[in-house]
Amino acid sequence: MTQTTTVLVIGGGGTGVGTARDLALRGVDVTLVERGGLASGTSGSSHGLLHSGARYAESDPEGAVECIDENETLRDIAGHCINDTGGLFVQLEQDDPDYFEEKLDACHEHGIDAELIDGDEARDRVPDLSEGVERAMVVPDAAIYPSRLTAANAESAANHGATIHTNAPVTDITVSDGRIERVDIGGETNTTIEPEYVVNATGAWADKIGAMAGVDFEMKPTKGVMISVEYEGLEPVLNRCREPSDGDIIIPHEGEAVLGTTSIEVDDPDDYPKEEWEVERMFEECGAMVPGIESHEIRRKWWACRPLYAPDESNRSDSGTGDERGISRDFTLLDHADDGVENFASVVGGKLTTYRMMAEATADHVAAELGVAASSTTATEQLPGAADPAELDRLVAKYSEPQPTDAGVVADLSGSTAAGD
Ligand SMILES: Cc1cc2nc3c(=O)[nH]c(=O)nc-3n(C[C@H](O)[C@H](O)[C@H](O)COP(=O)(O)OP(=O)(O)OC[C@H]3O[C@@H](n4cnc5c(N)ncnc54)[C@H](O)[C@@H]3O)c2cc1C
Repeated sequence: MTQTTTVLVIGGGGTGVGTARDLALRGVDVTLVERGGLASGTSGSSHGLLHSGARYAESDPEGAVECIDENETLRDIAGHCINDTGGLFVQLEQDDPDYFEEKLDACHEHGIDAELIDGDEARDRVPDLSEGVERAMVVPDAAIYPSRLTAANAESAANHGATIHTNAPVTDITVSDGRIERVDIGGETNTTIEPEYVVNATGAWADKIGAMAGVDFEMKPTKGVMISVEYEGLEPVLNRCREPSDGDIIIPHEGEAVLGTTSIEVDDPDDYPKEEWEVERMFEECGAMVPGIESHEIRRKWWACRPLYAPDESNRSDSGTGDERGISRDFTLLDHADDGVENFASVVGGKLTTYRMMAEATADHVAAELGVAASSTTATEQLPGAADPAELDRLVAKYSEPQPTDAGVVADLSGSTAAGD
């Protein structure tokens, strides 16, 4: 069977569903295919931090401003896909006070609310916080639930005419006369799609889809571990205020605290070692902020791969910045007309926090290619179900199941509801 569509979006993480939604709201006919359930790639296995931008404030002002802008936008449109926990950047006695001052100043300069509090006040807010915390800054970090977020984006796209196929891996791409002619889909969907335009939003797997279309570019994925432990009553996100390193963030997820993470290059995002030393490192490092956290019972541990684009990463190394984690995970839109395939683009890199902005930029590009004049409305239109967590959880079951990041928050209704087609 062969189907036609104006735009085929490949990949059902934040970037793909965001792009499908943006185009559908502009009146474009869209089909999205995802090889597993929505958010089953990196998005649903991320740390689940809605960045305030404070993490990047002194090292990457542009990335920091993108984060605070999107943080505010998502608070308006995404409702219960977010939990407004607030966040603290804590300075331990062994941390550089100048780094703290630099971050605080940079936050103020770039429009990120950052309030200085002393160690005692920080411990009033988080009683288990180390006696070694000398001071902290309060920032508008929050927790984000990617299973709900991707499902709500997909539902919005579907409500505007998009077709969403899960369990639909792209298995082959046929290019003819410099254009993608056909895309073969396996799995339960098992069909061929003839698209006018193709957006590759497959994150850490993007170079594999590129290769199917004869386009050569390289991703440079890095893995990170997350460990969820039982923890009642942690309110704010805890960030260690030092140059970004292993195990410097703890995120509250309703009855759990999620410790993370590492950043280690891997060759294949589907097959890489998941090492016990990474887990131990999380307990050591996070234990410096919250002593005794290692004695809390582990609920889940999981790994994910960052969708980093190799040329961006090389440029960062060239700039001599050393550890790359302090730098914003910028995104790149690759127009493969430059590689001889006219109707094909890949969107790589970025952060879950900035998925909507990446999607808007991608949809702007596609709209220009197709001659569509309508502009993006995703920054102001509420996501379906945003006000109702039960409805969001129903949507998760429709398109997927709760993913590791938010499995402790999102009700698992996947056994009781038909999966998305
Ligand atoms: C350890 C770690 C922690 C992170 N923590 C945070 C955080 O706290 N906050 C934040 O903002 N960002 C965080 N990030 C970054 C963020 O998670 C990612 O940048 C973002 O989720 C990527 O979304 P995406 O849609 O581009 O990719 P993905 O979510 O990976 O989506 C790509 C999709 O493509 C699908 N796919 C692959 N091949 C095919 C195929 N052949 N056919 C069909 N579909 C296919 C995959 O199954 C996948 O679902 C973290 C990343 C990592 C690795």
